[in-house]
Amino acid sequence: MGGGASGALVAANLLRRASQGDRVTVVDPCSELGRGVAYANLDPCMLLNVRAGGMSAFPEEPGHFVLWLEQEGLAADGESSTVFASRRDYGAYLGNVLDSCQAESAGELVRVHDLAQGIVANDEMAVVTDHSGRIRADRVVLAIGNRPPTCPASLSRFASHPRFIANPWDHLQIGKVDSDEVVFILGAGLTMVDVVLLLTRNNHRGRIVVRSRRGLMPKPHRLGQPTPMAQLPASDELFKSVIQLMRASGDDWRSALDGLRPHTVEVWESLSWRDRKRFLTHLRPFWDVFRHRMPECAAEQIQEGIDSGQLDARAGRVCNVREVTDGFEVTVSGCAEPIFANRIVNCTGPSLDLRIEKVPILESVVHAGLADYDPFGLGLNVDRDGRTEEAGRIWALGPLCRGCRWETTAIPEIRVQAARIALNIMDGQ
Ligand SMILES: Cc1cc2nc3c(=O)[nH]c(=O)nc-3n(C[C@H](O)[C@H](O)[C@H](O)COP(=O)(O)OP(=O)(O)OC[C@H]3O[C@@H](n4cnc5c(N)ncnc54)[C@H](O)[C@@H]3O)c2cc1C
Repeated sequence: MGGGASGALVAANLLRRASQGDRVTVVDPCSELGRGVAYANLDPCMLLNVRAGGMSAFPEEPGHFVLWLEQEGLAADGESSTVFASRRDYGAYLGNVLDSCQAESAGELVRVHDLAQGIVANDEMAVVTDHSGRIRADRVVLAIGNRPPTCPASLSRFASHPRFIANPWDHLQIGKVDSDEVVFILGAGLTMVDVVLLLTRNNHRGRIVVRSRRGLMPKPHRLGQPTPMAQLPASDELFKSVIQLMRASGDDWRSALDGLRPHTVEVWESLSWRDRKRFLTHLRPFWDVFRHRMPECAAEQIQEGIDSGQLDARAGRVCNVREVTDGFEVTVSGCAEPIFANRIVNCTGPSLDLRIEKVPILESVVHAGLADYDPFGLGLNVDRDGRTEEAGRIWALGPLCRGCRWETTAIPEIRVQAARIALNIMDGQ
């Protein structure tokens, strides 16, 4: 269940392997499969943050997306693998992948526009939905993606205030911001970049104030090749190996990080839960900005905003927020005067503890003994193939596997998980 990119990729892989009589049901309230949160924005200025060459739906066919872009006339031959395509086009691509797999499959794809609320597993298993009743299933794949951002405590009393944009992925709300308004953005990651680019695209003239705990912003990509890391070293050698990798990469740390990328899941798995906790507490903000980068053109636009004085991005903690005429006064650490803003946009990201969120479908599988939260509640405990329990009835992929895999939210990782889950399910494992 969940028909975003993860759900679409699992369904496509299952259909590729399906035989006569097999049925793949995708439950998702969204009308277009494949788009999910990331690829639902239809504004062409919203670009992927991975080059087209890394975004194929199928790991064994790395050129699949690039070929599609060229066939659709969306990128010029020869340079398409290095472009950052639009997320709108990527959503269309995933929809197209699913349509073709459906057309060529011996199995059947059923789309159910509904929200799954629970799973019952007695002799038979069924997914309980809001309006479509119970859907019988032999195997269930949980692909429910990221949760919407949580409201920071300092802003909780304004959660439903019309001038507070709690969900930055709701681009219709961003579109309602008047071009002269002062916008205060809390958080400085890739979502902040999206919001600034959308405002710029809407010819925003007002000041944009960005505050985050450390004032770190995602680094820009730069064209280059990953420095390959031949094999994963033993965990006590890891630090030394990463230093060697950095040295071998010359002056571009990106090549080293990209060389490490295929091994990050194994590195994470080799860490104790105590070390994972230390990483989350101390290193995660740095990892995020170096590893999850933005396209060069996005970085240029951000820099232009800073240079012109329109964008004021730095470190600062929100200490207090007071409602005033036409907006808010935000008191920020390190700033003597409160900052006036007509709007506040929450770009602090999704909650990292699903246990607090009490998502009905997850609570249901956990209470039924079909899955368990990982020790931090980042997601569910899964084995190397994605099973949440030994019997292999329930599987999970994508952001739900963060605790066990950490790097599991982007397509280059998700497509591998999707292919592996489909293979195992069809092999009856
Ligand atoms: C704004 C943004 C941009 C990104 N850009 C990139 C990029 O350029 N490249 C990259 O590799 N990665 C990118 N990512 C990472 C992204 O998380 C993955 O690429 C991928 O889209 C995740 O897909 P998903 O299906 O797991 O999650 P989602 O996209 O969150 O989809 C989850 C789906 O599950 C459905 N759902 C949730 N709960 C239920 C339920 N109970 N019942 C039924 N359905 C349910 C939702 O309606 C939704 O359609 C981006 C992420 C975001 C948020």
